[in-house]
Amino acid sequence: MAELRLDAVTRRWVLTGKRPVMPDAHDSGVVCAFCGGNEHLTPKAILERPDPKGGWAVRVFHDRAPVFQIEGGPDRRAEGLFDRMNPVGAHEIVVETPRHGVTMAEMPAEQVAKVAEVCRDRILDLKRDKRFRYVSLFKDQHSPGSTLRGHSYSQILASPVLPQSLEREFRWSRFHFLRKERCLYCDILEQEKRTEKRTVDQNADFIALCPFASRTPYELWVLPLEHSSSFEKDLAQPGRLTSLATFLKSCLQRIEKISDALHMVVHTEPNLEAHKPAKDWWKTLTEDFHWHIEIHPEVEGQRRYLGSEGFYFNPIPAEEAALVLRALEPGAETAPPGA
Ligand SMILES: [Zn+2]
Ligand SMILES: [Zn+2]
Ligand SMILES: [Zn+2]
Repeated sequence: MAELRLDAVTRRWVLTGKRPVMPDAHDSGVVCAFCGGNEHLTPKAILERPDPKGGWAVRVFHDRAPVFQIEGGPDRRAEGLFDRMNPVGAHEIVVETPRHGVTMAEMPAEQVAKVAEVCRDRILDLKRDKRFRYVSLFKDQHSPGSTLRGHSYSQILASPVLPQSLEREFRWSRFHFLRKERCLYCDILEQEKRTEKRTVDQNADFIALCPFASRTPYELWVLPLEHSSSFEKDLAQPGRLTSLATFLKSCLQRIEKISDALHMVVHTEPNLEAHKPAKDWWKTLTEDFHWHIEIHPEVEGQRRYLGSEGFYFNPIPAEEAALVLRALEPGAETAPPGA
């Protein structure tokens, strides 16, 4: 049985132990369980968006061996000075299309909007559960050439603790807000828009830029131009889904000219309801945090870490990456210098 353990020195939560296999999961091993027609190979659907032409367009089910489980309470307990708790939460798979080998950049924008809508609805639903402090949304896109892993999908994790990377972002956003009474990300946006050194693209609602201290070559962030702390609440506003889908698709088209394997993650506000009884620093979170998407292409031969101490090494500074990405018109076929 898996459990969460808190490292007393780094305050990092670690999941350890065996992941149980869901009773309704099958392990086909050979065919892709995510393809349309193979629904019997996956756990049953939590949510399905129908395709007007028949069948489904987007399908969500729980992972066959979830790292977090829906039943029970966190039951936080001590062992001397150590802390442990049950991995209560959810681990869901969002299959983004019934078709194999199609990347998000290749899907019609309407399909990308459907995927974003489904993810938004799952996050809103999971955040109604006060046991869950954060809901993560991310995707690992493997090269579509790989048979079993070449099906486009995302993962959703609802957890009873905050991921450490998010806690750091919340903490430093709060630090900036306390001193300046302004959102750190809004300030970054204003400066980047002024200098135009690292901006890549913009539409009426969103901007894409290479962050100043990019950890990976061609790392790209997508942020709403208008302040909002919540991906899921922002995308519930009229017109936002379509606008984000069109913009994200064109960003991914640029990225795919460099690499068709990538990691993408949404950073949004924590479950404020679950944190209500906690410390006062959550009270300004909607003002001091700004939701965003981080895209990390996997460029072959580029090592991300120096040793295991958390130093990143990126040979392509953000200004150079932005120049290349700007030149890569979505849809255009010409290869950029140095890409
Ligand atoms: Zn497939
Ligand atoms: Zn902001
Ligand atoms: Zn972030």
